[in-house]
Amino acid sequence: MAGVQVNQQRKIPVMIPLLGEEEAQAAADAVRSGWVAQGPRVAKFEEEFAAIVGAGHGVAVSSCTTGLHLALVLHGIGPGDEVIIPSFSFIATANAVRYVGATPIFADVDIATGNVTVETLDAVRTDRTRAVIAVHQGGVPFDTAALRKAAAGWGVVLVEDAACAAGSTAYGQPAGTGAAVAAWSFHPRKLITTGEGGMVTVDDADAAVRLKRLREHGMNVSAADRHASKQPVLEAYLETAYNYRMTDIQAAVGLVQLTRLAGLVAQRRQFAARYQELLAGIDGLIPVRDPAYGQTNYQSFWVLLDGFPVDRDEVLSALAAKGVSARRGIMASHLEPAYADVTPPPLPVTERLTRNSLILPLHHQLTEDDQDHIVGVLRDLAGGKA
Ligand SMILES: *Cc1c(COP(=O)(O)O)cnc(C)c1O
Repeated sequence: MAGVQVNQQRKIPVMIPLLGEEEAQAAADAVRSGWVAQGPRVAKFEEEFAAIVGAGHGVAVSSCTTGLHLALVLHGIGPGDEVIIPSFSFIATANAVRYVGATPIFADVDIATGNVTVETLDAVRTDRTRAVIAVHQGGVPFDTAALRKAAAGWGVVLVEDAACAAGSTAYGQPAGTGAAVAAWSFHPRKLITTGEGGMVTVDDADAAVRLKRLREHGMNVSAADRHASKQPVLEAYLETAYNYRMTDIQAAVGLVQLTRLAGLVAQRRQFAARYQELLAGIDGLIPVRDPAYGQTNYQSFWVLLDGFPVDRDEVLSALAAKGVSARRGIMASHLEPAYADVTPPPLPVTERLTRNSLILPLHHQLTEDDQDHIVGVLRDLAGGKA
């Protein structure tokens, strides 16, 4: 605007999806092909994604949220059943439990990983517990070996909310490998995106068939198979189900995104290591790290304030004033009005993490200079400056 001094201050967003010309071209190709609903590109995306996360089958869906819903339907979870979930998660984890009419039971998490553990689950387990939804929070893998073993011992279904975990590993394998059922997200806030979108992965072939039916109105023949058939195919609707399909336009974008995943994870881990090194010199800040049994993709690089002289919201304001778009830490669902009717057990670690942590910018356009600027603001706050 004429006559107004525009402050050319830097602006560092917290996250930017990496979307290139290749994705634009792939989406355009899908449109030009005339096949825009679920079709051959979705089938190829499912196959390639399942291979990358080490699962037998992938079933593409409209979001991770709808994927979690189907995972619970698949296992027959419903009214009267209790499902244990971390409160420390995006609210979709808890909502999925209510979609099937089951009762959400909140469990606390480990301070270092932000994840449920055998102990925190066992503390709230009852004889009505039918399932657990464990989250690889912010990309930090939970202890897959310990939780899968415990769930099997308790006779409960372990649904893995892997919304943030594409590219994370546990015990040397992709986070989804060996999961009974895992749900993934392709929302732009995650590492790879299809705009909106999700995937359910399973090893069991029958489970994959049922999931495909559940996402497509309960139909016994997919639209793709019907179109591919030379003979007229009369479909039947075997159960009341949903329309949770992904489109071929989304899958076209997703196929390109998969080729970027390994590079994105490597770059994020490099930036995370540099953050950890720089922040080590500031008292009162504890950055997230890899757990002993695995590697995070650093989908969210969070920092816990522990004895820091300035409180979290003031830190966020100070960063914002210097052009840095940080975010409050991961939410706690039990503190939201939607769950005000639930009386949770004491969740001290969850409350401490959600109130005292923040998420720092980490994306492919971040520079070392940006990181120095961000850490500089934090250092000034620690030293009583700024
Ligand atoms: C983002 C997220 C979801 C929801 O994913 P959508 O694809 O947006 O539905 C669910 N759980 C966790 C832990 C998430 O971070």
